Order: sequence, then C-alpha cells, then structure tokens
Amino acid sequence: MQDKDFLMIPGPTPVPESVLLALAKHPIGHRSKEFSKIFSSVNEKLKAVAKTQNDVFIYTASGTGAMEAAISNTINAGDKVLSLVIGVFGQRFADIAKLYGADLEIIKAEMGKAIDPKDLKAKLAADTERKIKAVTLTHSETSTGTANNLKALIPLIKEHGALVMVDAVTSLGCMELDTDELGIDILVSGSQKGFMVPPGLSFIFVSDKAMAAKAVCKQPGYYFCWNQAKKALADNTTPWTPNVSLIIALNVALDMMMAEGIDQITARHKRLRDILRTGIKALNLKLLAEDETASAAITAIYPPENIAVPAIRAAFKNDWNIVVANGQKELLDKIFRMGHLGFVSERDILTGLTALEAVLIKLGHKCDAGAAIKAYQEILKESELCPA
Ligand SMILES: *Cc1c(COP(=O)(O)O)cnc(C)c1O
Repeated sequence: MQDKDFLMIPGPTPVPESVLLALAKHPIGHRSKEFSKIFSSVNEKLKAVAKTQNDVFIYTASGTGAMEAAISNTINAGDKVLSLVIGVFGQRFADIAKLYGADLEIIKAEMGKAIDPKDLKAKLAADTERKIKAVTLTHSETSTGTANNLKALIPLIKEHGALVMVDAVTSLGCMELDTDELGIDILVSGSQKGFMVPPGLSFIFVSDKAMAAKAVCKQPGYYFCWNQAKKALADNTTPWTPNVSLIIALNVALDMMMAEGIDQITARHKRLRDILRTGIKALNLKLLAEDETASAAITAIYPPENIAVPAIRAAFKNDWNIVVANGQKELLDKIFRMGHLGFVSERDILTGLTALEAVLIKLGHKCDAGAAIKAYQEILKESELCPA
C-alpha cells in the first residue's frame, strides 16, 4: 500500500508529520537573523539532550562525517589511539583513526557482547607512559544491538587521562547519557536515528580538552575544521552553507523532544525494548545481545533454524509494509534487526511483534500463535496503563 511503509531499520527512522511539514517550507538564508535565532535555539536544545555545556557543531553530513571530524581535528599521525570494537561501527572509528595515521590498538569483543571493563582497565594500566592519546568507543552498537556500559568504562579512561570519544549515533536521544557527568570529550550523533529527522545532519559535542588537542593538531582539514565552526558559532551560524531546511526541521523535532522530556524519552525507549524482547522470547527466538547489555534503540534477532533472513525480511515488506534490517558484514543473513528508536510508540512495537509472529508462522516456525501479545498483556498488568 502506497505511503504505508514503516521503517523498523536503525536509521533512517520514521519522521513525524510536523517535521515533514517544516521541511516543505522555502529555505531561508543562513546569514539571516531569522536563521541565527533558530540555530541558537537548536544548539541549546541539542546540548540539553546530551546534558552538556560543551559546544556543539552541526555538520551537513551523515554521522560518519562527524566521526571523521573527531579524529581529523585531534589525532596527529603517530598518536596512539585505543579503539573499543564491538561491531561494525566501532571498527569504523578504528579504521578512520588508522587512515589518519594513528598508532592503533584495538580491544575487540565477540559479536553481541560489550567491552569487559576489566580488559580496558588492564590495557590502560599497561600504558605506564600514558602514550594512549584517545579512546574511541560506541555507546549503542547498531550492528549487534549491544550497548557498552559507559558508566563502567569511561571513569577508567578519565583516570588514565586519554581523550574520550563516544559514538552516540543510535544512543543520543534514546538511552541515558550524561555527557558532562561522564566527562565525554567528543560525542558524535546524527539526525536520522533518535532525532526523528531525515538523514543529512550530524552533531559533534566538543569539550575544552578536545579543543586543546585541536590547537596542536597538524592534520589538514577544511570543511570539518573546528576553528572555523567555533568562529561561526559565535555569530550563531555555520561556516559554510548548512542544510537550512533540515536544521529548521530539527528545531521542530527538538521541541517535541523537550515537550516529552529527555528522561521520559529514555524511559520510553527502554520500555519499548523490553516489550519487544519479551515478545520475541515468547516466540521461541534467540536474541544476539543479553538483557543486561541490550541497546534500547535496536534489537538483533537470530532467525529460527531453516528460515532464511531474506525470506523474513521479504515477508515483512510484502505482507506488512514493514522494513526490517539484515545483519551487517559477518552477521549478514545470520541475524535480522528491528529498530525502535525515535518516533516510535507502543502501538508500533505491537504492530511489529504481530507482524513478526505472522511472518514466522507463515514461513513454518513453530510457536504459540498469540504468544507475543499475550506476553505483552502480562507486562501491561504490572503497569499503570492497565490497573487491575
Ligand atoms: C548510523 C550510525 C553511524 C553513522 O552512519 P551514517 O550512515 O554515516 O549516518 C555511526 N555509528 C553508529 C553506531 C550508527 O548507528
């Protein structure tokens, strides 16, 4: 059915109608007072979402652009960088650092597992000369649906003294994240994940310590240069023409987020994750990530034996107009992934679960029909939504 597609992929994510309507307006000049007013308000709200006083620079680029900016503004060739890798996106941060000439070390976890703080502690303790200049890590690893425990990992890095660079592309605006309390130096995110805006903008939050690293960084770089961004920020604009329309749309989305409340948003994502995981388990399916380390934005699911991932995705699309994601790289066709971030409510999750059950039964999976929704009813009984 036309216009009925529902994106349950981990970005781009569904966009609210008010945000779409904002996108339909004529662009305005990026050196106008009108734009500066919106831009300054957007910056303040982004900082509120990330719980930080640090500057935020907005790039007309996808999340990877901001990841590259994190490295290109701070890491000189030969600098030691430690990358914590729990999937495709953690590896991407490492690859970028390597490309810029970093002397790279990696701690890698098995797919579906988070980084063990003990491993990080040992690695940092071995660096007695404090050569490691920066540690890159992913908060919510989109390729596996696994989240690193920032509260356990970051204090270890702070104690060592290295710069903390966090990829929060699928966690900011979805999962609990207090940039300043944790002391994150560089935090990266993007418009098309938790922010309910189409792809095309990325955000980078930069601490004073990160700016100090920029001051002694010899890497060339023009478009993503923080000095240029910082200078323009003082005039409430960007150094180059930004995607004005997306920034205006982001302003509308951020107003929605402020109205709901950041802590309420993270609580909603947690609840949606738990409903989905409970339903999936009731259908006798296995999840890649354990409950303790499960991302609140994306869930990775093993298909039943003898049912192929492409068949599941095709049935979702053809029968239900729902788009779910395949696995990436080594997990291609080994798992499928359902996104539940941004403009997503309980109704959407129930639709997704119902579709999942119907798809699996159609493809020959043995499970109790209705089991997922029955599991949801059990959850409801315990919540204020359905008083006894
Ligand atoms: C989506 C995503 C990115 C950035 O990808 P882009 O396609 O460049 O926006 C980075 N990290 C994670 C964890 C992501 O989910």
